[in-house]
Amino acid sequence: MQNDILEVLISEEDIREKVAELGRKLSAEYAGRNPLVICVLKGAFIFMADLVKTITVPIELDFMAVSSYGAATKSTGIVKIIKDLDVPVEGRDVLIVEDIIDSGLTLSYLIEMLNNRNAKSTRVVTLFDKPVGRTVDLQADYTGFILPDAFVVGYGLDFAEKYRNLPYVGVLKPEIYTT
Ligand code: 5GP
Repeated sequence: MQNDILEVLISEEDIREKVAELGRKLSAEYAGRNPLVICVLKGAFIFMADLVKTITVPIELDFMAVSSYGAATKSTGIVKIIKDLDVPVEGRDVLIVEDIIDSGLTLSYLIEMLNNRNAKSTRVVTLFDKPVGRTVDLQADYTGFILPDAFVVGYGLDFAEKYRNLPYVGVLKPEIYTT
């Protein structure tokens, strides 16, 4: 698996430090409140697990599974809900935990859905952002790392369901996704 990686972009250590920093900021923002933290599966599962351990206010959490890529490396723009939330969001302070924002299509769909369900507030934290890929005008409230316009894997992010368990984020060798 490691042999398929061309270059490590963000190390395990750098991710750990950034997640702790995001956790401190979110703990301050949500002081005195009880946010509903929503993990967007599957890509955000590792970030979610690491992030909630650094948040010091009481939270509830829920999971939502969406798919917008299939096995390709660019968003189709069609967001499919594979698993919806278990908890009603009406009147809740909602924090969406995203792995990566590229075109922004997935997130804009989710934000609209939560607003339609009358969430009290909707904030977004993403570990990675590729602003160059954006096709809709949208920004996360909290961002870990800005990445170049490259397809990355690791720390929850997959290519055709592989590489999610790498502890760092890297770029695949071109022959892996062109064959
Ligand atoms: P968007 O809708 O913003 O184009 O894409 C968002 C989703 O596409 C992310 O939640 C993630 O699942 C996937 N995605 C976007 N860029 C990458 C990438 O570089 N690598 C991987 N593995 N998934 C990505």
